[in-house]
Amino acid sequence: MNFDFDLFVIGGGSGGVRAARIAAGQHGAKVGLAEESRMGGTCVIRGCVPKKLMIFASEATQKAAEMRGYGWQEADRGAFDWQVFHGKLDAELNRLEAAYTSGQVKAGVELFHQRAKFADHHIVELADGTRKTAKHILIATGGRPVKPDIPGAELGLISDDLFLLDQLPGRALLIGGGFIACEFATILNGLGVDTVLAYRGDAVLRGFDREARDMASAQLRDIGVDLRLGLSPAGLEKSGNRVTARFDDGSKDDFDAVFFATGRAPYTWDLGLENTGIRLTKSGAIEVDEWSQTSVPSIFAVGDVTDRVNLTPVAIREGHSFVDTVFGDNPRRVNHDLVASAVYLRPHELGTIGLTEEQAAERGPVDVYAAVFRPMRSMFAGSDARMMMKLLVDPDSDKVLGCHIFGPDAGEMIQLAAIPVTMGATKADFDAAMAVHPTAAEELVTMRSVTRRHPAE
Ligand code: NDP
Repeated sequence: MNFDFDLFVIGGGSGGVRAARIAAGQHGAKVGLAEESRMGGTCVIRGCVPKKLMIFASEATQKAAEMRGYGWQEADRGAFDWQVFHGKLDAELNRLEAAYTSGQVKAGVELFHQRAKFADHHIVELADGTRKTAKHILIATGGRPVKPDIPGAELGLISDDLFLLDQLPGRALLIGGGFIACEFATILNGLGVDTVLAYRGDAVLRGFDREARDMASAQLRDIGVDLRLGLSPAGLEKSGNRVTARFDDGSKDDFDAVFFATGRAPYTWDLGLENTGIRLTKSGAIEVDEWSQTSVPSIFAVGDVTDRVNLTPVAIREGHSFVDTVFGDNPRRVNHDLVASAVYLRPHELGTIGLTEEQAAERGPVDVYAAVFRPMRSMFAGSDARMMMKLLVDPDSDKVLGCHIFGPDAGEMIQLAAIPVTMGATKADFDAAMAVHPTAAEELVTMRSVTRRHPAE
């Protein structure tokens, strides 16, 4: 059978554009790609990129205070102009979107700026009714924010909305305690918004190392976020221009904006999946094997829609591996076991790879090397902020099982620590590296004595 395309990609986000570009540009495949919204997807348009720029924008108060601590007595953060920032942000996102589009066009990908859905396992139907046949189809539709099922949920905003606000709210509520809630609370607080974060657990960032979670929770409070733990929303109501939130402990509070950061769901709806026979997982994600192949052999899926490790670099690696395997005669699988990640908080970020202390202790004996200290830079300026470096080591093999860093630029540090940890480095390998002095990161190679052991001796 003759197909219009060797590969048709549904979704122009991180995973989809990488797969399309490599398949067409490097492997010579005939590729089509449909995107219903802006090229670049969640990460570029309404996620990682604008979020990180806002994190940078939110540092002014802390930087001014630090400089006063160094003797710059007039240092003041001044006034933040949301319109100026927003204009620049829009221009940057337009630039990136154009770059992603031209990257596809240069590679020879035919773009369709419309929604696509399955007519069957080899045919996609575009929103204008035209149909395209393809030997292989890749689902790279990502995820969408979900709101809890509470009365008045429609009055709440989602993460996408932060980047579209005409003006900053005076007072905001964030619901949730994951990546987005913590990062958004840090941003809004830093931009001068009176910020409340309500989370149902006893420390933010469930799933991360407990000690790091406690430090992140404490830091949110230290910077001025009103962190309310053990609290869930019961409903939202409109009151004039504001929104009243009712909580499960019976309390009420008024806000100019309420943001739900209560997780994301694989974006599988209205895709015509019923015309393909594709199987979904219990969580509603597209079920795939280690080659990102679905239960229907001609259809593959990568990125958040498969709900494996929902991070941009993972989606990119999955997309690239899929096309190398199918079009490049170079079978490649993605190892999802060791994936570094960072939560961009301020003043200290959280960078992490491998097992948490709790997971390591559950697995078997573990030696914990941990240093908690006030870094030179902020301590001199009069800050009490503490950072943490932690290595979890298997006492039998000496292998480093996990590394957790809570401190300035921890995202940058964990990227570098991820190299030896991924290579299977031992604690002795870390110790063999000479320290770079004076840095905060040198703690990673200078921790000589065990802080504690599991099981405790
Ligand atoms: P997360 O899954 O990280 O967190 C969701 C939070 O919402 C959890 O704290 C959860 O609580 C809480 N929650 C869920 N349902 C309810 C409910 N019904 N009522 C009250 N609270 C609820 O999702 P995010 O939205 O923060 O982020 C989505 C994904 O985006 C992340 O998993 C991550 O993969 C990615 N991301 C990555 C970033 C990075 O790499 N820096 C930054 C931003 C996003 P509980 O813990 O108790 O279940």
